[in-house]
Amino acid sequence: MTEPVFRFAPSPNGHLHLGHALSALLNARAAVALGGRLLLRVEDIDQTRCTPDLEREMFEDLAWLGLHWEEPVVRQSDCFAFYRQALERLQDMGLVYPAYLTRAEIKGFVSGREAEGVSWPRDPDGAPLYPGDGAVLSEDERKRRAASDAPFALRLDMQQALTRIGQPLFWEELGAEGPALFEPGRKISVEAAAWGDVVLARKDTPTSYHLSVVVDDARQGITDVLRGQDLYHATSVHRVLQELLGLPVPRYRHHRLILGKDGRKLSKSNRDTSLKILRDAGMSHAELRKRIGL
Ligand code: GLU
Repeated sequence: MTEPVFRFAPSPNGHLHLGHALSALLNARAAVALGGRLLLRVEDIDQTRCTPDLEREMFEDLAWLGLHWEEPVVRQSDCFAFYRQALERLQDMGLVYPAYLTRAEIKGFVSGREAEGVSWPRDPDGAPLYPGDGAVLSEDERKRRAASDAPFALRLDMQQALTRIGQPLFWEELGAEGPALFEPGRKISVEAAAWGDVVLARKDTPTSYHLSVVVDDARQGITDVLRGQDLYHATSVHRVLQELLGLPVPRYRHHRLILGKDGRKLSKSNRDTSLKILRDAGMSHAELRKRIGL
């Protein structure tokens, strides 16, 4: 087996929380247990929400966790040219189209249909699938927006992408911690149609989470993606993009999530689970590990 390469890929668009601590420490443990390497990647494509202050605090949190990673650290904001290249390849395949509906227009259209009793399909994250500009805008309005400076998203035509691939896709899912790390993987079927036409880029941002993550995992030679269960279904989109772009396929390991008192996934705005607040309050490593079940 080639040497495993893991990565921890946080976004400095808010304060890291206990869920990030679990992810970071599981990646570090898995890399040691399997005799591999750990890379850190700063996922800062959202240049309005990711700030230098948040990034600095993120590094402080990671140092407090005792995390060690290899240098240099890849920063996604330095890699836009690579994402643009990948996007252009998908455009050359005729799989990308500009979509002009705003979030409010999509929401308004879908709630209108739902009020009429139509059950509108939602993606695995709960967002309504894109209805298509033609379902909402008149032909004149579509032409007007295309000819003007109106904002747009570039979406992947998922049905066409799946037709082009022409065969079922899979990924290998392995254990994320403890003895399960060493167990054989399970073959998981990709269900990408459920995502509809995902956004690959926007007028002002030449990439999206899905596109940049597959490009970077390939560029960095990542063999093992270990991340939270909340990204399990996104793996289907990632497999489609890897297949279209001819990228190698890592093994995947999705770990349990730390839930808040309300039973929901932690969010970066929740103060009582923020690593900075917990470390400032004097939490010890032993307490931290206990809190996240390690
Ligand atoms: N940057 C993503 C996050 O902070 C993680 C991406 C990934 O691990 O694939 O949620």
